[in-house]
Amino acid sequence: MPEGLEAEIWRRASEPLVGRTIAEVIVDDRVVADGFVATVTGATIEGIRRRGKVVLVDTDRATIGLHFGMTGRLIVDGVAPIEQLAYSSGRDDPTWDRLVMSTAPGGRAVPPALRFNDPRRLGRVSLDPDLGRLGVDYAEVTPKRLAGALDGRHGVLKSILLDQHVVAGLGNLCVDEVLWWARLDPRRSADSLSATETGRLAVVIRRRLPIMLSLGGSTAGVLNPSVRATCPPCERDGTPLERVVIGGRTTVWCRAHQR
Ligand SMILES: [Zn+2]
Repeated sequence: MPEGLEAEIWRRASEPLVGRTIAEVIVDDRVVADGFVATVTGATIEGIRRRGKVVLVDTDRATIGLHFGMTGRLIVDGVAPIEQLAYSSGRDDPTWDRLVMSTAPGGRAVPPALRFNDPRRLGRVSLDPDLGRLGVDYAEVTPKRLAGALDGRHGVLKSILLDQHVVAGLGNLCVDEVLWWARLDPRRSADSLSATETGRLAVVIRRRLPIMLSLGGSTAGVLNPSVRATCPPCERDGTPLERVVIGGRTTVWCRAHQR
């Protein structure tokens, strides 16, 4: 599913929309907030932001929240920034469009400025979303902030890191990846980490995720989808990787070096 890294790719790809006026909006009202069309038609886009896994389109009237769910994706000016995510069908079927936004000038001769396409319809489009309960953004993690976020969390480390109220933007692939790099057992209690281990994890989050971003997103790690499917020997020590379910999520890890 799309993680914070994919949201960041879409945020960057949406930057050219800043300054344009929204001319026409077509929505699937099962996933788009009430009053959306009336609010944003004629509004001017003033900025594009990201918090966690959410892309935020600021207009002079309201902020549009794009929540991608399991299979949501963006097509900007006719181009899909992430052509084929491992978890999506790879097909571009306009019947799966939940939001189609055209900007002026253009009309029907040019591709829509923004399409929010979601086959499974588990994402949503909100107006002025309340993001106050989101945890520290993955791109702003520091050892101190991470220590504060994990303090008093008795849950399993893997699950706690997936909790958007603790760290915003990490999904299943990125959590496994950072735990592999930080040499931490995903089954540990989140509040059992020493200051050194928390610091190491924070540094890994800040250093590895930008590298994955530059390589294509959450599927670009050492524990990429093909590795997850086959569990070959660990790159670090040659021990076969293991696949287990933790908190309902498939987890791939190395018993030898993750402690
Ligand atoms: Zn290993």
